[in-house]
Amino acid sequence: MSENIIESLTFYCPRCKAVIIPDLETAQTYLDIFEDVDKARRELIIEHYLKEHTTYPPRNWVKWLNRGEKFFLKKLLKEASMYRLTETQQKALKKTISKLKKRALKRAYDYYRYLAFSLADRDGVL
Ligand SMILES: [Zn+2]
Repeated sequence: MSENIIESLTFYCPRCKAVIIPDLETAQTYLDIFEDVDKARRELIIEHYLKEHTTYPPRNWVKWLNRGEKFFLKKLLKEASMYRLTETQQKALKKTISKLKKRALKRAYDYYRYLAFSLADRDGVL
């Protein structure tokens, strides 16, 4: 049974020139989430391309902020460097920066995932 699961999600990657075999846990998780072998394999392929054939995750998350967010972040950091912040203010600052980072990384993920999808699609593996 478990061999069938793994076999059904195994695929050939033309960029690696290798057969990609998911481990049982990964295979089971993808099948549980997508409830369909073809969908699960497709997602596994896109994840593989994302991890192995794109530069995701980006080294510099700030690059993924839009102009307004960058301006806001600069202003925040400038203000923070000018005044001595209380512990509460420091926490609030960290929280705000963390939210910006999360938003930027989500944007980067969406971009790189689309890129991974496009590469896999062009390679004809989807
Ligand atoms: Zn590959």
